[in-house]
Amino acid sequence: MSNELLIAAIVVALAAAWFLGRRAGRRLASGDAQLPAHYLQGLNYLLNEQPDKAIEVFTKLIEVDSETVETHFALGNLFRRRGEVERAIRIHQNLIARPTLNKTQRTQALYELGLDYMRAGILSRAESVFQQLVDDDAWGAASLRQLIEIYQQEREWAKAIEFTRKLEQSTGQAHSAIVAQYHCELAEQALGAGQNDAAGEHISIALEADPKCVRASLLQGRRAAAIGEVDAAVTAYARVEHQDPEFLPEALGPVEQLYERMGQPDKALEFARGAYEKHGGIAALLTVADLLRRLHGDATASAFVADQLRKRPSVRGLHRLIELNLEHSRAEARENLIVLKELTSRLLANKPAYRCKQCGFNAKSLHWQCPGCKNWNSLKPIQSMEGETAA
Ligand SMILES: [Zn+2]
Repeated sequence: MSNELLIAAIVVALAAAWFLGRRAGRRLASGDAQLPAHYLQGLNYLLNEQPDKAIEVFTKLIEVDSETVETHFALGNLFRRRGEVERAIRIHQNLIARPTLNKTQRTQALYELGLDYMRAGILSRAESVFQQLVDDDAWGAASLRQLIEIYQQEREWAKAIEFTRKLEQSTGQAHSAIVAQYHCELAEQALGAGQNDAAGEHISIALEADPKCVRASLLQGRRAAAIGEVDAAVTAYARVEHQDPEFLPEALGPVEQLYERMGQPDKALEFARGAYEKHGGIAALLTVADLLRRLHGDATASAFVADQLRKRPSVRGLHRLIELNLEHSRAEARENLIVLKELTSRLLANKPAYRCKQCGFNAKSLHWQCPGCKNWNSLKPIQSMEGETAA
């Protein structure tokens, strides 16, 4: 429904509520004799496409009692949706202050006020409102979800975990994959602060909560590499293939570096070749090409890339092939290759490397929570031709 239609519908509802109130034979307080004039004035604003003024007038017309509470909720929602948060807050605070409100109406008004504060970005007030409602039968689960949203925004991961567990208890639905992500956030903070033991604990809990958590394996690999446990690091990175092979590009680089450190580039080649043969993907192809080049020279690498490009064409593969041949070319051939390389560079310049499977959000770097739709675990490396994954 368009904004204008919605406003018109609300105004009609307000007018109807007022009329019904009058016909129920309620006594007029002094000054109420002027109400019809106000009502006409409101209608006039509406007809002149001044919905804001119309709403103002109609709001003054209705008293808050049991019959008009619903209308106030509708009006408060309308203001919040239009971004007029201060007016929404005033309406809901006004409702809460009424002694005639029953318990159900009061808790709903509180919840709506919490949503107003969320919309206004006043998270501390929203938090204290939703905290009052966590044990409410009707609004408890919804309030827990809002609190979790607040703690995510504030990056208070321990609290996000605590309240997600409460939500699981209250709804009977598990959110293990998201809890694992929160523990990964804590593990990352700990790694950043050099607290390897604390990081290790959070990684273990994450993998226990969600054995498919790729991020926990990547962090485990990073942690093990940092403290010199090379074998454990390789084992952790290799686990990614069984958890979700689409994330293999994230493990290829670190594994290559680890074997490099041990002076075993042949093992890195074995790992990358295995990944490429089983799952394909441009990142694995480029890793194999780089290792072939180092171990067996430009000609072997170039022949491998050319052969694979015939089977699976890709711009990034072509770009690498040109680079491999450039050094050995002379004169006119070299000029042509330079022109081609500029073309492929331009084609690759603005390509996203990751895409959200839920909302299609494109990114150059990996986000574990989608900046677009806020889902966890929904961004994946792009393996297809048009995007392609960076090596
Ligand atoms: Zn998304």
